Amino acid sequence: MVTSAKTSKPNLFDLFFLQQGEEGVQSFCTQAEIVVHTLARVFKEVDQPFEGLTVEEIKQQLRPVMDIHEEAQSLYEVMKEIEGPILKNSLHVSHERSMAHLHCPPVLPGVLAELMIGALNQSMDSWDQSPSATYVEEELIRYWTQLVQFPEGSDGVFTSGGTQSNYMGLLLARDAYCLTQWNHHVPTNGLPEDFRKMRVLCSEEAHFSVKKSISQLGLGEQAVIPVPVDEKHRMDFKEVCRIVEQLEGEGLFPFAVVATCGTTDFGSIDPLPNLADFCKKKGLWLHVDAAYGGGLLLSNEHRDKLEGLEHADSMTLDFHKWLFQPISCGVFLLQDRKHLGLLSHHADYLNPLEDEEDGILNLVNKSVQTTRRFDALKVLLTLKTMGTGLLGSMIDRTVEVAQYAAHELERRGCFHVENASPELSTVVFQYRPAGHHPAGELNRNIQQKLFREGRAVLAKTSVDGETYLKFTLLNPRTSEGDVSRVIDEIENTAYEQIKGGTPH
Ligand SMILES: *Cc1c(COP(=O)(O)O)cnc(C)c1O
Repeated sequence: MVTSAKTSKPNLFDLFFLQQGEEGVQSFCTQAEIVVHTLARVFKEVDQPFEGLTVEEIKQQLRPVMDIHEEAQSLYEVMKEIEGPILKNSLHVSHERSMAHLHCPPVLPGVLAELMIGALNQSMDSWDQSPSATYVEEELIRYWTQLVQFPEGSDGVFTSGGTQSNYMGLLLARDAYCLTQWNHHVPTNGLPEDFRKMRVLCSEEAHFSVKKSISQLGLGEQAVIPVPVDEKHRMDFKEVCRIVEQLEGEGLFPFAVVATCGTTDFGSIDPLPNLADFCKKKGLWLHVDAAYGGGLLLSNEHRDKLEGLEHADSMTLDFHKWLFQPISCGVFLLQDRKHLGLLSHHADYLNPLEDEEDGILNLVNKSVQTTRRFDALKVLLTLKTMGTGLLGSMIDRTVEVAQYAAHELERRGCFHVENASPELSTVVFQYRPAGHHPAGELNRNIQQKLFREGRAVLAKTSVDGETYLKFTLLNPRTSEGDVSRVIDEIENTAYEQIKGGTPH
């Protein structure tokens, strides 16, 4: 054992790594138990989705916890310290009345896989840093491309989520277009002369990451043409055709259409079969943002809503939205793997050309990231230990509860439901008592009051410039009874507000 003064306390070093020695393994088991017990206690005691504290109260509780010293504290002591201020003061996404954002309750296999992902710490960039993990990811990519019904020769990669997947789709769309249209290689030469004339179409209700990506890709937000939606909040197909024709008439270069399969607010699905035909005819790249709606790939009852998805040139799917995985976990899938060549850049230390010649797979070639998490493991553990049938029925159950919620809101008489037959599992509505119109401010106050008191966590969104409320139902354990109770809470809160004479 080394005992020089400089490398003091070698036995302490051993205690902080999961390593082959007896101390490391023992220390891991003891410490894991402390963490598991603390978490179990927190979950047992949680009875609301949020403790209902103000920013000031949370900051004040955190202050002593954030003291960091040269001297160590025991894990036991620190867990005691953080249990209230950090763990309990979290937003409890697994609670039945947490229904605000596309932010799912994680399933246990996903949570436990995170422990293995961290402990093994594989990096997906080069094969020699992830010898088995590389192939787990490859096989899972194949599994998902088959579920989408992409042809042989399709490919993909795990990403940090929908934003990164949308970015990759638009990056490849831009570069593939420049190559075929002008024989111009953007990765080497930068943007082509006519880059200011390039245009992308997407629904006016598409996710903001489309605009953000196009802006980061050097085309400017002006390159994104928002297409109006129909009464069901789907991109209007006739308008797509008209706008493309108009742009071409003006000498501009439309090169891609982004269709949304499950918009963040309404869960609406753009007309994929029509868009696929049209894009094929016009030589436009079709990227489908199925970050949310892609969950239906496992559905037993609603899979047909994804018809046409198989014709996308590229697509986005998030496992951390409607497939119950801990953040972060998503994939980017691609119809034809040849386009991935536009991403690869050889670094001698990581993915030298000799490796490629020897058939060694270095996934850095497919990603915009270098060091990357082994998120595929949580998807594998979830699929295998839960089975696709059960996962599918969980997704179907959330659709059923959303349909109940829409019905129940309408039945009560004082609500306007914007999507009375929900496509996926969101319901957008407004509380509208007689004599309270416009009701935007009242609804904003209701949402805030429920959050502040932690009784229910709802989202608010804007429809035609007015505040509406939104249920995002991603938890299959949320029942009709829970929804009904939250609607009661909304009515009671509204009544208090009106009686107290707060708004209007
Ligand atoms: C959530 C979402 C995104 C962004 O995904 P992140 O995983 O948050 O980066 C993109 N598109 C849609 C439709 C989404 O719902």
